Amino acid sequence: MHEFAVARRRMVREQIAAAGITDPRVLKAMQEVPRHLFVPKLLRHRAQQPSALPIGYGQTISKPFTVGLMTSLLELRGHEKVLEVGTGSGYQGAILAHLAQEVVSVERIAPLADRARDTLQKLGLHNITVLAHDGTAGYADHAPFDAIMVTACAPHLPPHLVSQLKEGGYLLIPVTTGEDQILYRYLRQGQEVIVEQSVSCRFVPLLSGVKIEDPALANQGMSEQEPLSETAGPDDKVPSEGEHLA
Ligand code: SAH
Repeated sequence: MHEFAVARRRMVREQIAAAGITDPRVLKAMQEVPRHLFVPKLLRHRAQQPSALPIGYGQTISKPFTVGLMTSLLELRGHEKVLEVGTGSGYQGAILAHLAQEVVSVERIAPLADRARDTLQKLGLHNITVLAHDGTAGYADHAPFDAIMVTACAPHLPPHLVSQLKEGGYLLIPVTTGEDQILYRYLRQGQEVIVEQSVSCRFVPLLSGVKIEDPALANQGMSEQEPLSETAGPDDKVPSEGEHLA
């Protein structure tokens, strides 16, 4: 087995399953999706570590446990259409694409959206659409959604997201409360949503507007030894379908 697949098996066992996430479909998706391909090349050896990692433009890929927790809280069964707000690297979107029928993922920083789309395409994941879009408005053209996941912290619950959620659907969103951030799971009931679960968390902020970022910011959040420009070199080995993914 490839070294990254071995590292992932350990990651799933020690950071996800041991932490109480037991949904076998979530564990399988996290075992299958090659997380190292969603992080900058020079950080790949750290892709399976229990931490968030910089992906440029001051943004991060969430740590494995956060992805496992958020995914399991959506309780996907395979028939759903899911909206993800905050594509970032595309890793969370790839996990969702393994577990739902269709995923629409929006990202306000256009170059991040482009890179994530490219990675997902190379992995052969065709049931996810990545768009450069401000997700505070949701995505009306594709609504309604069976489930919505926001992976950046909002100052309050954006009303558009509630209106684009189907009856009985879950909306997962971190919200700032004073100094803290709380990850809420809301359930849509009629015109209202009710809080179902909450847990303390840490995310980058949900901001408004789409940004065509200055390329000089591509390495923001990275140390000088870890330039993002190393992310997608032409020699990147992205396996074709049928090959082992890691
Ligand atoms: N889910 C990502 C990590 C998310 S980091 C992954 O798997 O890698 C949060 C992302 O949300 C950042 O890339 C940030 O640019 C994006 N974001 C913040 N506000 C947003 C908004 N209003 N609409 C869309 N994306 C947003």
